[in-house]
Amino acid sequence: MKKLKVLTDQCIGCGACVGIDPEHFDFNEDGLSKVINEENLESESLQEAIEYCPVGIISIENTEEDDSETQNNSSENSCNETQNKTFEDSYNETQNKTSENSFEEQSSRGK
Ligand code: SF4
Repeated sequence: MKKLKVLTDQCIGCGACVGIDPEHFDFNEDGLSKVINEENLESESLQEAIEYCPVGIISIENTEEDDSETQNNSSENSCNETQNKTFEDSYNETQNKTSENSFEEQSSRGK
């Protein structure tokens, strides 16, 4: 899901967004922009308001649902990493044993 966001603490109260897209923006009690509607985020006037904000503080952001997907991916990755390491370790162990064994065999044959 997406969320419309205005960094109100950086707003200069020019009113461009409210003028261009009154469906999504209005002034708060301090005369700064605030979001009043989270619907219809694909609208042309919203895109225009984002474009015309002189301080560039209007954005459409992804919400937590997408974040949790990212977290799942990263835990999958670390699981794979662990698996790879384990495989590498056991491979190395096997190699060590094999070379040790053949060394022992050789030295016992030499006797
Ligand atoms: S266009 Fe930007 S600076 Fe102007 S009122 Fe809207 S959010 Fe504030």
